Amino acid sequence: MRITLLISFFSLNLVAQTERVKDFTKQLCSPEFHGRGYVNAGDSIAANHIAKTFEEIGLKQLNGTYFQSFTFPVNTFPTKMEVKIGDKQLTPGVDFIVNEASGKGNGTTEFQSLGIYELYTGKYSFSKLDKNKMFYFLNLGYGGDTLTKVRENLKIIAKYAPVMEVVNTKFTWSVSETAYKFPFIQIQESVFKIHFQSNSTAVSFDIDAQIKNHTARNVIGYLPATKKSKKTIMITAHYDHLGRMGSSTYFPGANDNASGNGMLISLAEKFKAKGLKKYNLLFVAFAGEEIGLYGSKYMVSHPPVDLKSVHFLLNLDIMGSGEEGITVVNATLFPEEFTRLENINKGKNYIAQIKRRGPAANSDHYFFTEAGVPAFYIYTMGPNKHYHDIYDTYQELSFSAFGNLSNLLEEFFRGMK
Ligand SMILES: [Zn+2]
Repeated sequence: MRITLLISFFSLNLVAQTERVKDFTKQLCSPEFHGRGYVNAGDSIAANHIAKTFEEIGLKQLNGTYFQSFTFPVNTFPTKMEVKIGDKQLTPGVDFIVNEASGKGNGTTEFQSLGIYELYTGKYSFSKLDKNKMFYFLNLGYGGDTLTKVRENLKIIAKYAPVMEVVNTKFTWSVSETAYKFPFIQIQESVFKIHFQSNSTAVSFDIDAQIKNHTARNVIGYLPATKKSKKTIMITAHYDHLGRMGSSTYFPGANDNASGNGMLISLAEKFKAKGLKKYNLLFVAFAGEEIGLYGSKYMVSHPPVDLKSVHFLLNLDIMGSGEEGITVVNATLFPEEFTRLENINKGKNYIAQIKRRGPAANSDHYFFTEAGVPAFYIYTMGPNKHYHDIYDTYQELSFSAFGNLSNLLEEFFRGMK
């Protein structure tokens, strides 16, 4: 009876903890956080929320603050985002997106087609194009070098005239620090067909784009070792995402990377409850990842602790699934640590599969690795393929491996020599 009571108390506690982490993750994905980008101060709202959560958990400030600020230019879409073909109003994010480096512009105009030969060779005086037309290209079925060249030339055209790229693959948005002079729209073939071929060749658009100088903040929470130590372990996850594309559309960035912040919080709670003897812990939520790893790059050049004292860094980005296990980037660089991770998993069967991968510049571990800090970057794998689109929502997160992965990572650090 007593044992039963103890067990149920313990599991209730675990459930409560998991629910708290899920609520935290869900909140980061909500419209009030505006996709944690550069419209309506979304990323700043997220930074404040993460710092508050760090404080609630009991993480300390470093050098008197939770924040580290840095500034960069960014192209933003704060208000108008309208495209109409004939009399059909299109839905941003679903029917069309703008290229992240799209310029602003408005008008009602005719379509004019671009051919593959012109776009592949670039042997065409794009600068002489009529800026009062909308140039469209059916970018269907091209791949490899052809696609690369076509995309390059479409971007050049956007310097001289409005351009529309018709695609039949999923939209994948990004963020840019520069902008073309004219709008650059990507549209789904299904929509383009129906409304272009039916009755009208007229296209109307009204797109607002603004380059602004943006100050973003990395969020840092500190947890000292239980015995005085000069060595530090860093656990990191970027919290920024792509933000808003016009006033009515936002990119929630649930898997990428509200989920990673959830894991960050989950580990912070565990190590706050029982600290590491030998290592101070630095929990970092990075800003500016999606635009080019800016937050982590800044931290490497302005480290809050001596980088030589950083024993290991673990970066978490895309933690929301895990049905097909996890991948470890930099596994080949640190085979001993990778084997140790594998062995813990073999003993406990936490994760379906742990895949080994070499170094890659695909998240915030990268500049630390280049600076000589031993690091892993871990992401989960599973059926959820929503990525950099409006469908990467909290509801799509399965958290399939979440609890077990959190336990695996905790054991990995507790066993660190
Ligand atoms: Zn990411």
